[in-house]
Amino acid sequence: MHLFIQDVSKFFGQFQALHNVSLEVGSEEFVCLLGPSGCGKTTLLRIIAGLEPFDSGTLKIGERDLREIDAQHRGFGIVFQSYSLFPNMTVAENIGYGLKIRKWPRDKVDAKVRDLMELVRFPELAERYPHELSGGQQQRVAIARALAVDPALLLLDEPLSALDARVRAEMRTEIRDVQRRLGIPTIMVTHDQEEALTMADRIVCMKDGRIEQVGTPQDLYARPQTRFVADFVGISNLLDEQTAAQLSSDLLDHKPEDAATQLLALRPEQLGLRPDGDGDARVTHVTFLGNISRITVEWHGQNLVSEVHSDDPFQPGDRVAFEVRPAAGTWVRA
Ligand code: ATP
Repeated sequence: MHLFIQDVSKFFGQFQALHNVSLEVGSEEFVCLLGPSGCGKTTLLRIIAGLEPFDSGTLKIGERDLREIDAQHRGFGIVFQSYSLFPNMTVAENIGYGLKIRKWPRDKVDAKVRDLMELVRFPELAERYPHELSGGQQQRVAIARALAVDPALLLLDEPLSALDARVRAEMRTEIRDVQRRLGIPTIMVTHDQEEALTMADRIVCMKDGRIEQVGTPQDLYARPQTRFVADFVGISNLLDEQTAAQLSSDLLDHKPEDAATQLLALRPEQLGLRPDGDGDARVTHVTFLGNISRITVEWHGQNLVSEVHSDDPFQPGDRVAFEVRPAAGTWVRA
């Protein structure tokens, strides 16, 4: 089923939290809403869920107008950041709850709960209570509970943000696997660009209640259209025209002609370094990241970031020169 959002706007009093947001989500797609705190991601998710009204625009799933269907009847699965399990119910009861209130017969509920516990891989925890589970386990239960009702759409609001880094990384893969197997369209809110890059089919990058850019992770990384996206998704060196020309005049060859204010966004791996005793750039920091090292270089009063293979021995204080390919980087709106 296809989710269709067109020109949705939302006000809280005088404050406009969403400006004409339009987006379509395909029937098996995993879409991340990515952006800094306050950009409107949660508001958009809550509107889709039916937990928040909106002021103008269209919201449909398939041919059904969602304005006419309240939250309980949309048949969406929702998982929030806080695990929000029922504390007085066991894992199995939590997962089966939605089916029980839909008056499913007992044996069918039991069978479905068993399947879901296999799916999220914790059959042995069925009789435990939420307080007897780790954070990661609780969040798996919350996801299984959301999936129990065969949702038309799965909505995840920062589901991993309360977990520690290792569990978070594991669960990224697990959630993605389950979502692919079941083929449920999914929208996940996150402010973590790495999470969005690793999980999403498409990322919706938001800023101040507007969509800045929508694209695959590869798209957003390789072809950011605005300074904001270049900065928010991955690291970029942002150079104005003069500075870019100083770095290498070839870089101006692919600058779009029409646009007025443009900056060249150059990824750290596109800024090559070579030792050069006469170079006008100087290494100020070296951060070891395993196979690569991130090198900060001071050059004409600004700091540029390069990433090189860790076998290349650069030290703070080294004089260096840059090596950039003529077509490197992307010109973005400032
Ligand atoms: P975070 O990552 O911090 O949750 P977000 O991108 O999800 O941020 P929203 O929660 O959607 O942001 O909030 C968007 C804007 O709307 C914020 O400026 C917020 O203060 C405002 N806002 C959200 N809910 C309300 C409300 N009930 N009343 C008034 N303003 C609100």
